Amino acid sequence: MLTRLLPVALALGLSATTALAAGPQLKGQAPGWYRMQLGDFEVTALSDGSINLPVDKLLNQPPAKTLKTLHDAHLDVPLETSVNAFLVNTGSKIVLVDTGTAGLFGPTAGRLLDNLKASGYTPEQVDEIVITHMHGDHIGGASSTAFPNATLRLDKRDSDHWLSAEQMAKGGDEAKPIAAVVKGFADAGRFKPFDGSAGGVEIVPGVKAFPAYGHTPGHSNYVAESKGQKMMFWGDLMHVAAVQFPNPAVTVQFDSDQKAARPAREKAFAAAAKEGYYVAVAHVSFPGIGHLRAAGKGYDWLPVNYSTNR
Ligand SMILES: [Zn+2]
Ligand SMILES: [Zn+2]
Repeated sequence: MLTRLLPVALALGLSATTALAAGPQLKGQAPGWYRMQLGDFEVTALSDGSINLPVDKLLNQPPAKTLKTLHDAHLDVPLETSVNAFLVNTGSKIVLVDTGTAGLFGPTAGRLLDNLKASGYTPEQVDEIVITHMHGDHIGGASSTAFPNATLRLDKRDSDHWLSAEQMAKGGDEAKPIAAVVKGFADAGRFKPFDGSAGGVEIVPGVKAFPAYGHTPGHSNYVAESKGQKMMFWGDLMHVAAVQFPNPAVTVQFDSDQKAARPAREKAFAAAAKEGYYVAVAHVSFPGIGHLRAAGKGYDWLPVNYSTNR
C-alpha cells in the first residue's frame, strides 16, 4: 500500500516522510494514577506531577560525584523528580497518604486532586489524610474544604515544630500555607495529631504509623497490611533513587537532622530488603512502588511489575 502511494506523493512534490508524518506533537502525559491490590486492600498511586531539583547541590556529597552517578544512570540535573501520594482503600475506610504540593512548587505539580478524580475516587470519600511530614510537597494539597470528610493525622512532633512561634517567624514561602492547612482542619474539629514515638499507632484497621524521625522532627512512615501483604509508605526517607539506593549514607540538605535521617534511612532500607515487602516512596519515579534488594553495600530498586489489576 505504501509503495503504491509513494509515486503519488512524489508527483505532488511531497517527500514520503512529509506525507506520512501528519499532526503536531501532543505533549502531556496519561492521567497519573496506578492501581494494585495489597491483600484485600486496593492501593492507588497518585501523581501530583514532578518538580526539577538541582540534586547535585542538594545532596551532601561532592557535586561531581552526584553528577557522575546520574550520568551513569542516563540522568541529568536538574533532575525531574516525581511527587507521589497514595490512596489506600481498605474496603471500609479510605486513607490518603500525603497530598502533594497544591501548586506551592509551580505548575508542573499540584495535580493530585485531578488525578484522584481521574482514578475514579472523589475527595469526599477520603476518611483520613495521613501526612508523613509537614513539608509543602506532602501537606500542601491537604485542604479541609477539598476533603470535607477527612481527618488530618500526623505526628505531633511535626506540628509542634513547624507551627512553633520560632518556625513561623522564620517564615519561608511554605510556612503560612502549611499553617493555614492545619488551621482549616483544626477549626473544623478534624485535626488529630498523634504521639507516634512508640510505633504502631493505628489510623484505621490495617494502617499504622511508625516513627522515622530525622528528615523532620516528626517524620513518620505508614504501613498498610492485609492478608500477609504489606506496603510501607516512606515519605522523604530518601530523595534521589539513583544515588541513595546504592549509597544510603548520602544525606540531603532538606533533612532537619542529618545525623538522625541517615540511620532512619539505613534501618528502613535494610528492613525492606530483608522482609521483602512493598515500599511506596514520594520522590521515586512514579508510581514509586517497588521492592529493595540488597546489592553490595547498598540496594537495587525493583519497580513494581505492571499490572492491569484484573
Ligand atoms: Zn521533606
Ligand atoms: Zn518531599
